[in-house]
Amino acid sequence: METLLNIDIKETIDKLEDLQTLSREEFIELLACEDDYLFERARFTAQKIYGNQIFMRGLIEFTSYCKNDCFYCGLRAGNVNAQRYRLSKQQILECCEKGHALGFRTFVLQGGEDPFYTDDIMVEIVSEIRAAHGDCAITLSIGERSFESYERLFKAGADRYLLRHETANEQHYALLHPQKMSCANRKKCLYELKEIGYQVGCGFMVGSPNQTLDNIVDDLFFIKDLKPQMVGIGPFLPHSDTPFKNDTPGNLRLTLNILAILRLLQPNLLIPATTALGTLDFQGRELGILAGANVVMPNLSPVDVRSKYLLYDNKICTGDEAAECVACMQRRIQSIGYEIVVSRGDWRGYTS
Ligand code: SAH
Ligand code: SF4
Repeated sequence: METLLNIDIKETIDKLEDLQTLSREEFIELLACEDDYLFERARFTAQKIYGNQIFMRGLIEFTSYCKNDCFYCGLRAGNVNAQRYRLSKQQILECCEKGHALGFRTFVLQGGEDPFYTDDIMVEIVSEIRAAHGDCAITLSIGERSFESYERLFKAGADRYLLRHETANEQHYALLHPQKMSCANRKKCLYELKEIGYQVGCGFMVGSPNQTLDNIVDDLFFIKDLKPQMVGIGPFLPHSDTPFKNDTPGNLRLTLNILAILRLLQPNLLIPATTALGTLDFQGRELGILAGANVVMPNLSPVDVRSKYLLYDNKICTGDEAAECVACMQRRIQSIGYEIVVSRGDWRGYTS
């Protein structure tokens, strides 16, 4: 019986690899897959396109202020215990300078939705990074803004934008966010970013409260429709000062299965092995790469602010200097037979 089941699941994996899609029922079956053949095929597919190269992005967490109140996040406005900080333009530029010397060719500016950083201020920051580092990609991850705002930032030199859709299912979205936030607007932002010309990353947490396997399939179908260049997924991890403090963390195997499914669904995707995955499991990021991920995002934020950017509890790497993070990451990647490259790490595929 077990052998028969294994044969079935292998057929489904081969079908996904061949057709790059499946039915809802087949996806659900694959999400529960316990056969490492799924990882083998995902790895093979990643290597066909990206070889054994892993791209590195320098993450600069430049503000811990946020006007939103997402129920899962430690930076939510309602968390009175959160420690808040903002980096100045000068501090951000210094992070980039340091990062460039360490071999980073992509900078990811991420933060809460902080009204302090108006369009004028963000345009100034982006333009100066662009002027100082013409050989680098600039990625923004600063939440929902207007079309005009996204367009101004793109013209100022930003190339990429990360905005996880969080869940493609409206009912589920409403269980994770206050009423004034909407799934529809989140999706609209993503389509607008693409239209403007950004390379776009969406994504979601695995095991967020009330998430069903059906919801995850909704996410997969949404991704097929959006055709982003990147998809960031990581396990949900509870934060002790949020309404979800007692909820269970996302499951490691399910997270790895989704990484592998994404690789087979859209072979040229950029897929990070996230810090949340490394927090869930000591070897999480390595396992992520072995399941088809091809990007890592070491932290470039100044050490004195690291422990204040806490989306979830027990976040790793909060005490290390950027250079230590890079050395640690290099060791980890080499230990599994891959190498980190000094490159912008652009997407290998169509451009619209
Ligand atoms: N404010 C921006 C960017 C910072 S949050 C935004 O929301 O887009 C970046 C990502 O962290 C979110 O998209 C979410 O998916 C993830 N995140 C937040 N809280 C988390 C938690 N408790 N566990 C795991 N990931 C979390
Ligand atoms: Fe703010 Fe982003 Fe956290 Fe939501 S997930 S509270 S938008 S930092």
